[in-house]
Amino acid sequence: MRRMTALAVASAAALALAACGSGNSGGGGGDGGGGGGGTESTDVEVFTWWAAGSELTGLEALEGVFAEQHPDFTFVNGAVAGGAGSAAKDLLQTRLQANDPPDTFQAHAGAELQDYIDAGQIEDVSGLYEEFGLTDAFPQDLIDLLTVDGAIYSVPSNIHRSNVVWANPSVLESAGLDPSTPPADIDAWIEDLQTVQDSGVQTPLSVAAPWTQVHLLETVLMADLDPETYIGLWDGSSDWTGPEVTAALAHFETLLGFTNTDRDGLDWPDATQMVMDGTAAYNVMGDWAVAAFEEAGIERGEGFVEFPVPGTDGSFGFLADSFTLPVGAPNPDGATAWLETVGSLEGQVAFNQAKGSIPARTDADPAEFSEYQQSAIDSYANDTILPSLAHGAAAPVAVLNAITDAVSKYTAGGSDIATLQTELAAAAGS
Ligand code: BGC
Repeated sequence: MRRMTALAVASAAALALAACGSGNSGGGGGDGGGGGGGTESTDVEVFTWWAAGSELTGLEALEGVFAEQHPDFTFVNGAVAGGAGSAAKDLLQTRLQANDPPDTFQAHAGAELQDYIDAGQIEDVSGLYEEFGLTDAFPQDLIDLLTVDGAIYSVPSNIHRSNVVWANPSVLESAGLDPSTPPADIDAWIEDLQTVQDSGVQTPLSVAAPWTQVHLLETVLMADLDPETYIGLWDGSSDWTGPEVTAALAHFETLLGFTNTDRDGLDWPDATQMVMDGTAAYNVMGDWAVAAFEEAGIERGEGFVEFPVPGTDGSFGFLADSFTLPVGAPNPDGATAWLETVGSLEGQVAFNQAKGSIPARTDADPAEFSEYQQSAIDSYANDTILPSLAHGAAAPVAVLNAITDAVSKYTAGGSDIATLQTELAAAAGS
């Protein structure tokens, strides 16, 4: 009896909702033809980890273009805090497995996207590439990372560079270093870190939660291995137990000795903030950091300088964010409209100006971007592209998780560098 009453109340509520929804649903750009009857909502839940600070500002820039291009839909922010998707990706997986997908979600181009493709969790959107004229808008090598068996599974929003050091010039000058002359390799950088420490700076190099430690490690591997050997770590052709990796891990160990011990409790903005405040001299982070400096009103050259991680000049540590159409998205028309905005020139310009990344589209005018971004555009066009581990380009999520566990065990004092090397080899499946 009680159950019947509850059901009756529920269906009355559903009817009322349907009545509200009719009249203002639908619309938008591509007529994906989805829907499938039932209650239609104008809401489009966009799932990302751009939850705060300069990342949220970037998302809001894209939201602004979406509102202009698709006023019939309502952006719903489904962001989950935690840099690099450190919390979002687990939560997303739980939702996808429970058949409760958002309308669209952020995913990295490359191996991470492949995970969703293999699990049958995302739709082929190559039809939208035709419809929105995207086929020639992106570089072919990026499209290749989004494509499997002729199907394309997401629309890229941006390209970030991972192998960047952000430094406080005043701290370097006080230590007697010239901020405009970056060290040539990791050994030279270690000498500078020692000089900074000797000048009285407690944290020469700031770092944060385990994913940022993995980020630091990937850039040390990029610095110490030649490009072919680095790429070989991800396709099984390089030996994780070999002497080059041993040497890189020894560098990693030394670098960690210059970092803040409270690192595990911090996220990337905290580590960047230490450079802004001058409590740290250097931080290694992807170029989303430039947006944080800009948002804080700190000027390039004056309040911060940046350079490729020593030993990686000539390489572009690559990652790209992209957006998907999940299988079973509640509002596929709304998701399609979002993908149209993400892929549009206007969307890419507005988003990337705020986010610090560079447009994935090749037709954006570099003059519309900051000097830093122009240098990234140039590096992306001319340098060797090396896929990022920490940001889904190089390895599947399961491998990244296993590597993160091994690194975090090591940095928390639970293993030594030889054990770390063995565990990394096991994590990478070699
Ligand atoms: C994403 C960036 C984001 C960064 C920090 C990366 O994985 O690709 O868009 O800014 O994580 O959260």
